[in-house]
Amino acid sequence: MAQAQKQKHAADTRPWRDPNAIPFVRIEAVSKRFPNGVLAVDQVSLDIYKGELFCLLGGSGSGKSTLLRMLAGFEAPTGGKILIDGEDMAGVAPYNRPVNMMFQSYALFPHMSVEANIAYGLKRDGMAANDIRSRVEELLNLVHLPGYEKRKPGQLSGGQRQRVALARSLAKKPKLLLLDEPLGALDKKLRERTQYELVKIQEQTGVTFIVVTHDQEEAMSLATRIGVMDTGIIAQIGEPNEIYEFPNSRYVAGFIGNVNMFEGVVTEDEPDHVRIRCAETVNDILVPHGVSCAPDQTLWYAIRPEKLQISRERPEGDANFAYGLVDEVVYLGDLSVYYIVLESGMRIQATKPNIDRWDEENIRWDEHIYVTWEGAAGAVLTS
Ligand code: ADP
Ligand code: MG
Repeated sequence: MAQAQKQKHAADTRPWRDPNAIPFVRIEAVSKRFPNGVLAVDQVSLDIYKGELFCLLGGSGSGKSTLLRMLAGFEAPTGGKILIDGEDMAGVAPYNRPVNMMFQSYALFPHMSVEANIAYGLKRDGMAANDIRSRVEELLNLVHLPGYEKRKPGQLSGGQRQRVALARSLAKKPKLLLLDEPLGALDKKLRERTQYELVKIQEQTGVTFIVVTHDQEEAMSLATRIGVMDTGIIAQIGEPNEIYEFPNSRYVAGFIGNVNMFEGVVTEDEPDHVRIRCAETVNDILVPHGVSCAPDQTLWYAIRPEKLQISRERPEGDANFAYGLVDEVVYLGDLSVYYIVLESGMRIQATKPNIDRWDEENIRWDEHIYVTWEGAAGAVLTS
């Protein structure tokens, strides 16, 4: 019995890992070329599952908003197909889709109360006054603003306005809510708190959210999965830790978090290891697994600063270390960042958590040190 219970709890709740799960939103080779010739979205294919909080992450101009606007029906694709809940959306008007969109600069009606703002769409649909009142109350509880019915938007803080906007966009119970840079207008502290609330509200309502953001930390903290966009294409789709630990390209590795990127050439290519000759580290990089690559191929070894160790002692062996001079130490409280100039002249960074409050033995600025790493701690990239 206890065993069965345990197994039940351990059941995977991530439908994207289940090959038989049916996606809620299906984007099939969708493209958008604007009349001016700009190809904003280039054959994007993407499946999103019910109850997901999916983040589209990418730099400015990468096509995130255009893709979102096609889901909402504000733009028509110039190629491909969009299915929502199994239904082809071609020719379906925005108001006939089970979708709502919340914008960054969401304009609440300034002359209307919070209550009237949230009730606006319900009233237009002819919902009875009593039902509207209880729905508004329910929504204000959801966004932690009970008792704010009579306030005007001007009498609210930025974060509160954002929550009213969210309540308004959820009023008509959309199956899919699209949010374009929803927290862009908030300052850093408030943003972090609102991120947490957004996740809670999403979980409570079970509505599928697609959130556009250019902020990688925001995507990491919100998302069930992230789609990284690079000028019209999806460069990688994965859970936050997959994207961080197993990026599939230099673009993705560099876009999410900090990374040291070593360029090298394969000198040994075996099923159980590869050896990479790298001028930047001077010593070879030895990776304890196979890599699909051509002989003498140039590739990149991407390793995060927290995966590097620094030491005054020369490590054993002939690989996976470099020698250098500590150029700068930045103390950030929880961790310190060491900037190190290697023999080759390449500048890299390594981080070290400050576990002790005071450590006389800490490596300091202007010391010569060895940087070491585990071969499996970095990602081998061929593009
Ligand atoms: P993002 O939201 O990722 O910043 P957008 O989807 O807004 O990117 O834009 C993608 C590209 O499409 C950009 O090069 C942008 O200039 C272009 N674009 C967006 N909307 C239009 C439009 N209505 N007409 C022409 N080009 C557009
Ligand atoms: Mg945009």
